[in-house]
Amino acid sequence: MRTSRTHQPLTYDVRLPDEAQADALRLLDASRDVVNTALPIPWPHLDEFGRERVGPAWKQVGKYMGSPQYHGDRQWRCESETVGRILRQQAERKKAFELVQPILSDGFIRSKTEKRPAGKNRPAIKEAITTLQKSLEEDETSFVALQNVIEQACNFFFQQDRFPTSYEELQPLPLLKVGMLTYAGDDGSEKGQAYRLALDLEAGVARFRFRYPDEAAIWCWRKVDTIIPLPDRVKERCACGELIAPTLREEQRADGSRIAVLDFVIEVEKADLPAWENIERVLGADWGVHTLLTATTVDEHSEQVGRPFFLNTGGFDGRQARTRRQIDELKKKVAKGEEQRDALPPDDPKRLWFNQKLAVWRREIDRCWRKYEQRNRALAHLASNVLLLLCQMYGCSLLSMESLKTLKSTGRGRGVRGKWRNYRNNSTIRGEIWKLLRYKCHLIGLRFHTEQPRGTSHTCPHCGQPANTYRSPSDRKEAVKWGRWMSCENCHYNGDRDYCASVNIARLGVAYLLQMKQTGKARSCSIYDPRVKPVSYTGAGAVLLLPPTGNHPARNIRG
Ligand SMILES: [Zn+2]
Repeated sequence: MRTSRTHQPLTYDVRLPDEAQADALRLLDASRDVVNTALPIPWPHLDEFGRERVGPAWKQVGKYMGSPQYHGDRQWRCESETVGRILRQQAERKKAFELVQPILSDGFIRSKTEKRPAGKNRPAIKEAITTLQKSLEEDETSFVALQNVIEQACNFFFQQDRFPTSYEELQPLPLLKVGMLTYAGDDGSEKGQAYRLALDLEAGVARFRFRYPDEAAIWCWRKVDTIIPLPDRVKERCACGELIAPTLREEQRADGSRIAVLDFVIEVEKADLPAWENIERVLGADWGVHTLLTATTVDEHSEQVGRPFFLNTGGFDGRQARTRRQIDELKKKVAKGEEQRDALPPDDPKRLWFNQKLAVWRREIDRCWRKYEQRNRALAHLASNVLLLLCQMYGCSLLSMESLKTLKSTGRGRGVRGKWRNYRNNSTIRGEIWKLLRYKCHLIGLRFHTEQPRGTSHTCPHCGQPANTYRSPSDRKEAVKWGRWMSCENCHYNGDRDYCASVNIARLGVAYLLQMKQTGKARSCSIYDPRVKPVSYTGAGAVLLLPPTGNHPARNIRG
């Protein structure tokens, strides 16, 4: 995919009309076979795919092989482009593995006890990742990659009783489970020799034609164009962007049926970013301990503007946890059913009954997962849109965001069950919000900058001195690291912990902004840096917070 500073690819999936489904699925099956047959050949050269990332991936694959089943030059290019992209992705994971390999240790494994089976020692993993990341100047996205690879290595440990010695040992050949064919290896939608795609924006449709194997496995072009009605969003984007090579994909549904979808990829120009000297306000956003996100606006004179915003997900977390429990119960049913079935004699008619039951449960598991993921995606979109809306409302052209390199989870502290489950879900959602924000900011012309959270939850935003957190405003005898109430001994300010952290992230953003304005260069400051100014809030009624959207007690205080 072409990526550049000025353009951004957007993807929209559209289901192919019924008349084209069978042929498209046959094409996908054929190309999946080619991709899976081809993958083992360049696989030993994985490192090469990590080194060289510019230019089409099919050319790189072409150094090692030709088509194992030749159905035309362009068809193979598209297939080998798919192969190359998989390998480039794997090569990135391999780099992550090489970073974590030296720190893999038995300490990550919690040994079996009478009550619990062996598991992962999350606190140790957390600490190790944090230490590792302090030593790295890596891109933010690597956070999820590191965590993901460590988890996979622990799973390997449970099976083999040792950690893997190489990435290849950890990761089996990543074969395609469902069909996927990118048309980026072809010569474009007009001269294409594997597909043609034309837009008719007046009629609101796309005309798609493709080469495929017919029922007798003879490769040919489809005789007629497939007319694909375009969703409004695609029409809007097409009007101002350029359609580039689409990807044909297979999706499996809960009932086991398969459908072919076409991913429209539209490259749009990124909006110009505002000049630093024109930026006056910063929205600071913090991944809350008690809320998913907390955001506050601060202007360049270190005045807080408006009220903070809390995005609370209490009800949502509960629903997600219920779905996860449902999945766990179904998995238990499947395991037990399999066991009972396998204990039967091979010709026992009851086996059929078990198989039918098992199929139903597995479909149900699929359905639950899909529901779970859809909810996560929907929440990520909502959250990112809310932040952008706040930027618009308060005239912020800089979004100062707490770095993703943080492992703090919501729902921490006493009386919270399944906090790791929450943590896992939250880190998935945060990753998604992060990606959405980064790309939406580019699209609408908003500056996006990240700040390290260190100290931001334990520094008073009003005087800049270190401050403790407590369980609640009324329970301030003993300082608690994860407490939800911050209280400053120096200036006697006190307020909600997540709110204070979001103001501190905004303060860091303002310090960055002022450096850019004064010198055209900037470095992120530590929260204790004198360039990070205290914030004042002169709004009526002092820090009157919005009540959170869950059923927690109101967190209001009058200064
Ligand atoms: Zn203070």
